[in-house]
Amino acid sequence: MATKAWSNNENNEKQSDEKKTSGQILSDKLGFKIKNCWEEADKKQQGEIFSFSDRYKAFLDKAKTEREFAAECLSILKSKGFVDLDALLENNGKLSPGMKVYQNIKGKSLLFAVIGSKPVFGGVNLVGAHIDSPRVDLKVNPLYEDAEMAMLDTQYYGGIKKYQWVTIPLAMHGVIVKGDGTKVEIKIGEDERDPVFTITDLLPHLAKDQMEKKAKDAITGEGLNVLAGTIPYKDKKAKNKVKLNVLKLLNEKYGLVEQDFSCAEIEIVPAFKARDVGLDRSLIGAYGHDDRCCAYPAMTALVEIGDAGAPETTCICVLTDKEEVGSAGNTGAESKLLENFVAYLCYLHNPGSYSDISLRKCLANSAMLSADVNPAVDPNYDGVQDKKTASCLGKGIVLTKYTGGRGKGGASDANAEFCNKVRMIFNKNKIQWQFGDLGKVDQGGGGTIAKYVANLGVEVVDCGVPVLSMHSPFEIISKIDLYTTYKGYLAFLRNRRN
Ligand code: MN
Ligand code: MN
Repeated sequence: MATKAWSNNENNEKQSDEKKTSGQILSDKLGFKIKNCWEEADKKQQGEIFSFSDRYKAFLDKAKTEREFAAECLSILKSKGFVDLDALLENNGKLSPGMKVYQNIKGKSLLFAVIGSKPVFGGVNLVGAHIDSPRVDLKVNPLYEDAEMAMLDTQYYGGIKKYQWVTIPLAMHGVIVKGDGTKVEIKIGEDERDPVFTITDLLPHLAKDQMEKKAKDAITGEGLNVLAGTIPYKDKKAKNKVKLNVLKLLNEKYGLVEQDFSCAEIEIVPAFKARDVGLDRSLIGAYGHDDRCCAYPAMTALVEIGDAGAPETTCICVLTDKEEVGSAGNTGAESKLLENFVAYLCYLHNPGSYSDISLRKCLANSAMLSADVNPAVDPNYDGVQDKKTASCLGKGIVLTKYTGGRGKGGASDANAEFCNKVRMIFNKNKIQWQFGDLGKVDQGGGGTIAKYVANLGVEVVDCGVPVLSMHSPFEIISKIDLYTTYKGYLAFLRNRRN
């Protein structure tokens, strides 16, 4: 809706239009200009953008790991009336339009849907994101003592620049399954009263050799050891008394013994919270924007679809684990998790008429926005991107036709026809969008979950939020891109037809 301030702007533009030359007018008509979204947003919209961002930041602080994201999301879904699809299957249930269902894959991936009024065989609308982020994981036998300090040995997870993970406060999140089968949830370093952890770096005074090294070698993978304590257990004869004291503390608090580390998933993540960045507060700095700044809008959009009653086409949100390490395994997008979920929907739609053919037809008639982040242009690092095709902060949701690297290697390359469908939905619904790719030709590259879903026959295009300092402990996004992305996912879920 146009406000007074907005219509004043329009008048200004009209006035300047009169002075334009024919070339300028032709350029306006034929060229594609990608505007700064803030210039278009009125006061009310800016308020909505900022309050959406506040909710996102609060969610991020509670969801730093895939398990935490899945748990937080699940509690929202349950409060909104989503029911367990596995229970429906077991109880010979049946789906009807407007029903809301979810499937929890080992607490690390989540699929949920709002059932449409049209038969599911005609295809579904999907938004898919990943909820794991690059980090440092504890090894299976991590605790050791060196120089009378207790240390935790790690293996990093995903593509990190190792030098970014030293000398920052770190928190420990995860689960340990004890020998009696009970599961202990660990979260240390998030409460203000908690201790934090850190990985040390060498002082400059002694770093002559280190500073000569390449950035990738300055901090080694085996050098990413977490400092965990220095007080020895009081005993004259015992060995490794600092390690023993840490084990004692873990035993007192959680009932753990050293062997339990072998049945654990402990993630070391930055201990700081999501914060506004910039004097104008236009940006959010946080750990794990990749890919929670797409997963959160995707989740929010699907919940909103569910609130509005039965959509025509069934809408699904899929949030997966393991994207940062290649999507393999039984919680990753390369597994059967999405295919199974759609099969269950097809089956429960009408158990008597289910066939493999109906599942294949449903998948072939389906379409997905692969909701993932895109590297934004960074003025500090000029020259790695082609500015004609790169995304910028503040210019809206990013459409990435193809990913991959070095000659579209490993790319999921979306069909022109499908790109146009998405473009038409965005243009019609006034969703400001921009291009994005993965840098200059032969500079690098990357992938998302898109190709695994495309392999099922689903139309897929990558579409999400531009990010600065991607994969670092403190990634940066623009609030208006986050909000535009949410609106874009909503428009796609509501309006995509076969
Ligand atoms: Mn990602
Ligand atoms: Mn990533």
